[in-house]
Amino acid sequence: MTETADILEELGPWQRPLRAQFPIIVANPELAYLDSAATAQKPRAVLEAVQHYLATSNANAGRGSYPWANATTAAVERAGDRVKEFLGDPAPDRSSVHFTSGTSEGLRTVARDWLAGLLTDGDEIVVPFADHEANLAPWLEVRELLERQGVKIRVRELPYQDSSGDYDPAALAASVGPRTRFVAATHVHHVYGVDMNVNRIRRVVGPEVPICLDAAQGVGHVPFSVAGLDVDFVVFSGHKALALPGTGAVWARGRRGPRLRPGGWAGTPNTVGIVSLAAALDWLDAAGTDRIEAWTVALAARLTDGLSQLGAYEVLGCRSSLAAGSEVQRRRSIVTFRHRAIPSRDLGFILYSHGFMVRSDGHCQAGAGDADGSVRVSLHVHNTSEEIEKLVGTLRSLQ
Ligand code: PLP
Repeated sequence: MTETADILEELGPWQRPLRAQFPIIVANPELAYLDSAATAQKPRAVLEAVQHYLATSNANAGRGSYPWANATTAAVERAGDRVKEFLGDPAPDRSSVHFTSGTSEGLRTVARDWLAGLLTDGDEIVVPFADHEANLAPWLEVRELLERQGVKIRVRELPYQDSSGDYDPAALAASVGPRTRFVAATHVHHVYGVDMNVNRIRRVVGPEVPICLDAAQGVGHVPFSVAGLDVDFVVFSGHKALALPGTGAVWARGRRGPRLRPGGWAGTPNTVGIVSLAAALDWLDAAGTDRIEAWTVALAARLTDGLSQLGAYEVLGCRSSLAAGSEVQRRRSIVTFRHRAIPSRDLGFILYSHGFMVRSDGHCQAGAGDADGSVRVSLHVHNTSEEIEKLVGTLRSLQ
């Protein structure tokens, strides 16, 4: 707790001017936006980049030879380089970036344009059954597609530990064999907020099995580097990383990339979204993703510490605290909970009547059996400790 307070106090002077750069946040001081995992608010620099592009050089990319068209083509190419740089790509000349509309379409691109052509009868793939459904449906579709062609593959579950929402690498060993051709995993869990520590999966599956990472809740929220992450595809949503909706990307490490359809986009790309993504990544780098992570993790810890004092609530996933060496150090900026008596959807409405915008449903979690779902609070750099204290106070009053 003390450590949390220290972090928030130390970073306060850095955070306040950044919060002031979000027009929608500044215009609504009575509201707290606590749904950045669904989509993030946009700083002024992103809005200005979009307006500047549309007002000065809007045209189609890769077509035409006049200056606006050339400027648009150059902006799209630059954005691809910017994505590689932002992801800490150690070999940008060997990797490729494919713009998509978001993580769902990006994972589908990997499934359809790469994985389906790789698998033969009897092959196995290992995928998560309780992460976001966007990271399950495309792999099941590949199985169906191949089945229609007379090719049978086996889809195995990437196993979880019981209580924390984390993967279970020890159990994974039993699901991996000589026919394992592919693993899909998630970077940060969108319900439990846990960093799923995908390098443990690499250690189990060995160096040759391609791994595709759903980084929707990682990129733009925490420092992210493919230099230290041994995966072959990284898929993320630009709109969760402060860019416009309908924007995302697939990064493919060189040895896998060339078999993806070049460009990844049939027809006119979302040039405005791509321009916004480059501006958002510039903004995030200037703000410092390490400090954004420290700030939001401290706020999440403050919230889980507060909730742990309130007997009426159950926090999902790992316990949160910044205590050194604790498992919970790996919780990021997402805290999901239930009231033991108030249905989650009702709690969502009640919280909005107090000015808090949260998500309250099943969060698109694959296999989620509980129709009532839970309440998810997800944070970004504009959130404050005052918002969290007020939220904890409101939750206490609802006990
Ligand atoms: N994967 C995860 C972990 C997510 O949290 C989400 C969105 O909430 C998605 C995939 C889907 O992202 P999009 O709607 O941008 O395609």
